[in-house]
Amino acid sequence: MTDRGRYDVAVIGAGPGGSRAAERLARSGRRVLLLEKRERVGHPVRCAEAVGPRADVERYLALDDTLVSSPVDGVAVVAPDGTRFERAFPGAGFVVDREAFDRRLSEAAAAAGAELRTGHQAMGLLRENGRVAGVRVKDLRAGGHYDALAAVVVGADGVESLSPRWAGLKDQYRPEEIFSCAQQLVEGIDASRAFIEFYLGRRFAPGGYAWVFPKGSGRANVGVGVNPLMADGKPAVRYLDAFLAHRCPGGARTRLVVGGCAVARGLSRLAADGYVAVGEAANQNNPFSGGGIINALEGADMAAEAIARALDRGRVSARDLASYAKTWKGSTGRANEAFFHAARIFYGLSDDELSRVVRGLSRARGLFDERGVKPRRLIQALVVSNPRLLVQSLGYWLGAAWRR
Ligand SMILES: Cc1cc2nc3c(=O)[nH]c(=O)nc-3n(C[C@H](O)[C@H](O)[C@H](O)COP(=O)(O)OP(=O)(O)OC[C@H]3O[C@@H](n4cnc5c(N)ncnc54)[C@H](O)[C@@H]3O)c2cc1C
Repeated sequence: MTDRGRYDVAVIGAGPGGSRAAERLARSGRRVLLLEKRERVGHPVRCAEAVGPRADVERYLALDDTLVSSPVDGVAVVAPDGTRFERAFPGAGFVVDREAFDRRLSEAAAAAGAELRTGHQAMGLLRENGRVAGVRVKDLRAGGHYDALAAVVVGADGVESLSPRWAGLKDQYRPEEIFSCAQQLVEGIDASRAFIEFYLGRRFAPGGYAWVFPKGSGRANVGVGVNPLMADGKPAVRYLDAFLAHRCPGGARTRLVVGGCAVARGLSRLAADGYVAVGEAANQNNPFSGGGIINALEGADMAAEAIARALDRGRVSARDLASYAKTWKGSTGRANEAFFHAARIFYGLSDDELSRVVRGLSRARGLFDERGVKPRRLIQALVVSNPRLLVQSLGYWLGAAWRR
């Protein structure tokens, strides 16, 4: 065992959340170690690659042609009975090249001074006097382990994360807290308009949705995310096969992606003594859509600010890091809480009810703003189309008021 240095901050995972936290902290003069178990940052891609409007993304990195595969100029939702709701939404967002996107963020971290080590996997947390004091690391290329000591560890290890469990912040996911996903990059598909499409219902995506996200030049990410408890024991790829046969029978399948996407309620605690969780590791994804790229970047900025302040004071207990959770829960965390309840209602609906909801969407007022769907309006739209949902949504409002 060799001691490989002493850092202000060790970050586990060079996805968007980890790279951004590393960049921010390195830029403020901290000594930062960024650990990534994969050989190549961002590879293989396990994502449908959609992000929101330019202004939201460019808070974190400038978009250029090497990062953008296609703009997103509208949304289409297809109900189980074939009813189609469409809304043009120019400037709604982009489908990016996720590998290039993640690489650019990790390069920004390295340029700011963070020490990026790929092929290095965190194996556990080190502790000193009961608090987290660093990371036990395995060098996957050379073999062997070493300890990296750090005043604060950032767990940004994504959906497969173990570090929040090591820190005592999280239990194992329950099956319904993860969309089980399968996706193909399809070529030769009719995706001429830059709309993102969502298909609802038990045939293609029980307890979730199927999607078509344009990648430009007649290509699209075509995928499904299902609730494993509602999937009749079938893996997501079986649903994907059925969806591909329906939506793009002639398309050539060029890149299969299989993986989980967290749609869980946000963690109640985001910090332990000497540790914070960020991004999907902290359940910061939108629990309705599963989207989490921008959320991870946002969480990373909030975490980095709280860590920098705590380091300035020389105290990094959970209490000293608590401003991070406060900021998160007062902003996107609050919207996520509403999305979580909306999702519980929405994904439990029968096919008939889903079709009724989609028919009602064209009448719903103020459902979208420049950042996408507004969660409270979504719940209203659900209730208007299905009055029996009033009881469930009352449960939500009471729950939300209680947690405030
Ligand atoms: C099929 C699918 C489609 C999706 N589509 C979208 C979409 O269109 N839009 C969107 O916004 N979100 C989407 N998501 C979700 C999105 O990919 C994640 O929310 C986002 O990547 C979270 O970023 P992160 O930095 O928290 O974690 P990640 O991007 O998962 O990064 C975590 C990193 O940690 C590394 N790591 C893990 N364990 C260790 C360890 N022990 N030691 C060292 N490194 C480790 C991993 O290799 C990884 O690089 C999708 C997810 C899936 C599965």
